[in-house]
Amino acid sequence: MPSLIFTFIFLLGTIIGSFLNVVIFRFNTGRTVTKGRSICMNCNRNLRWYELIPVFSFLIQSGKCRRCASKISHQYPIVELITGLIFVLVSFKFLPILYVSYWSYLFLTSLFVFLFSLLIVISVYDLHHKIIPNKLVYLFIIVSFFSLFVNTSFFSLTFNVPTLIYFISGPLLALPFVSLWYFSKGRLMGLGDGKLILGIGWMLGLFQGIFAVIISFWIGTVISVLLMVIYRKKVNMKTEIPFAPFLIISTLVTFIFSLDIFSLIKLFSI
Ligand SMILES: [Zn+2]
Repeated sequence: MPSLIFTFIFLLGTIIGSFLNVVIFRFNTGRTVTKGRSICMNCNRNLRWYELIPVFSFLIQSGKCRRCASKISHQYPIVELITGLIFVLVSFKFLPILYVSYWSYLFLTSLFVFLFSLLIVISVYDLHHKIIPNKLVYLFIIVSFFSLFVNTSFFSLTFNVPTLIYFISGPLLALPFVSLWYFSKGRLMGLGDGKLILGIGWMLGLFQGIFAVIISFWIGTVISVLLMVIYRKKVNMKTEIPFAPFLIISTLVTFIFSLDIFSLIKLFSI
């Protein structure tokens, strides 16, 4: 039975993922997200319903438009798969709460799935345009601030006023990055990254937040070095590599496995 439910949650995630793709491509283009049919970006043909099935349509059409045979961006199935996966991971993490209250479970899962969906849009947009849109990051900050008041520690849902350390976790975590942005005049770090970290600090709390930031630098370094080795001519020390995707991967890992700075210290003290 649980495997059936998780299959359903995965499929739901891929559907939301295909909506996120629309948001990513239409954001700041003047096109609304809800109106207007989906079209082939090359021949402008309206897509039929069976061409819009997440992941499946891409595979069956071998990644090509059915009329003009132009290549469909790999971003479509990748974002759909990642969103599906995140939906499953988040709903799995909160599973113990399901046995306490169905509504608490639904509420918590929706809240964090929403936050991660925003993070997906932000990071893919950052990959395309090397910028984090204010509207998206502000929405992320507001919702993660709201998540501070949701207490999940007792495996049930209660609302409470968080302690001071939770309030300051966001600003404290963002401060070094905002300073880095200020003193390097935006060369070392974008202000968007600082804003993103403010939200991540509130979403994860101080100790998990510190862990996520450290890990994001490690992931960032490893991937940058790999890119420099693979694409020697295109990528070098001066290439601007967006930081948001690394931050978001580390936030996901930290959140799902409940890791914090103490688990990192433990790892090194064995
Ligand atoms: Zn086409």
